[in-house]
Amino acid sequence: MKLESFWQATAPAFTGGDQDALPSQADVVVIGAGFTGLSAARSLARSGQQVVVLEAETVLGQASGRNGGHCNTGVAQNFSSLVARQGLEQASRYYRAYADAVDYVQRLVVEEQIECDFLRCGKLKLASKPSHFPVLQAAWEMMRNTVDPEVELVSAADVRHEIGSDRFHGGLIQHRGGQMHMGKFGIGLANVAARHGARIFEQTPVTGLHRVEGYRHRVITPRGEIDADRVLMATGCSNHGPFRWFQRRIIPVGSFIVATEPLDARLLAALFPTTRTYVTSMNIGNYFRTTADQRLIFGGRARFAMSNPTSDQRSGEVLKAGMSALFPVLREARIDYCWGGQVDMTADRLPRAGEHDGVFYSVGYSGHGTQMSVWMGNVMANCVTGHAGDNPWMRKHWPAIPGYFGKPWFLPLAGLYYKARDRFS
Ligand SMILES: Cc1cc2nc3c(=O)[nH]c(=O)nc-3n(C[C@H](O)[C@H](O)[C@H](O)COP(=O)(O)OP(=O)(O)OC[C@H]3O[C@@H](n4cnc5c(N)ncnc54)[C@H](O)[C@@H]3O)c2cc1C
Repeated sequence: MKLESFWQATAPAFTGGDQDALPSQADVVVIGAGFTGLSAARSLARSGQQVVVLEAETVLGQASGRNGGHCNTGVAQNFSSLVARQGLEQASRYYRAYADAVDYVQRLVVEEQIECDFLRCGKLKLASKPSHFPVLQAAWEMMRNTVDPEVELVSAADVRHEIGSDRFHGGLIQHRGGQMHMGKFGIGLANVAARHGARIFEQTPVTGLHRVEGYRHRVITPRGEIDADRVLMATGCSNHGPFRWFQRRIIPVGSFIVATEPLDARLLAALFPTTRTYVTSMNIGNYFRTTADQRLIFGGRARFAMSNPTSDQRSGEVLKAGMSALFPVLREARIDYCWGGQVDMTADRLPRAGEHDGVFYSVGYSGHGTQMSVWMGNVMANCVTGHAGDNPWMRKHWPAIPGYFGKPWFLPLAGLYYKARDRFS
């Protein structure tokens, strides 16, 4: 078993990195080469800006290269709960933003001819307990009458047509969701951004940011300094760099994934006859999908721990047991890859994007970011160049999380709380 991300291990190498000395000046410095930064760099370069991307490690080294591979529509939380908290109008706006984001990814893939196995497969949310089905039903009723007429409810009797497991009690299908090979997509996006003129420097962490005036900053790295007319921060939940204000508002939460060996095609067709992306309805649940080379990618919040090789391996064992419980026929399946990553959570699980102290930012996708980060890269490119469009994640107030100063000491407690809720739901 390799302790590395399947997406990173099976993507082509990125060859568009800049090996020259850093330039002394740029129109825009983008910090971070995940999907947000790369998508923004592509849009900015296409509009004629001189763009420099500074990446602390390697392109796609963090969440964008380590995720579950789902590219779904729909908000991170239950739609009915979001309506209860935010009102129907705002919740619908958020919901539509995800649909726009998946459409944008698909357009980009087609326009730039990125080969990444993009597939509109739909997402199936599975009721893990009988008591979870009425919750899905309430969400279905509200969604089909407001934001998503195509959404489909699957009864407990019919769910076996969708999944070869007797552990589920119905489900909800959002048909516009998709999936893709995240490594092939991300490397393709990086190459496209470089081809349009963005200069991408790997192994170049930003260690300081000095505001000169307005939006202009001096950007400090160990390899030199750049005077930037504008700066876009796209650093996910990084604890590195001069972003303390953000680090008090975003919590890194570990999530873990395993990928099986390639499986027999008939077995996969029996287990996943409709080839969707799948999530379970538990708070501490699972997400899974198959790949073009017939593996099962199976993830979840196996443990309330940060991702590192030891933690990833232990989580891999928990996930293998979870996978075998849902699909006993996979008990003997070999695990080829096991990895983890840090999800950038906000307190309400909604992203945030805008400008703080003259620095533009888009962060906090809370585990639903593969599509949103790509779309927001483009939205923020427009904001940076003064063409503000529709940014649904701009908020006047974004308070710090009380008692949180960068170390999420409360995560084990949150884990106990959600486990208890799952047990008694
Ligand atoms: C395990 C896991 C599973 C997930 N599954 C899904 C899924 O199935 N579907 C979904 O929609 N979303 C999923 N997500 C979330 C999704 O992957 C992210 O929301 C998205 O990739 C965020 O992209 P980003 O560019 O904002 O951040 P990242 O990809 O984290 O990129 C940020 C980059 O900034 C760099 N950086 C940080 N600090 C500095 C600095 N000081 N100087 C220079 N560079 C810096 C980092 O090295 C990193 O490369 C998952 C996330 C994880 C971790």
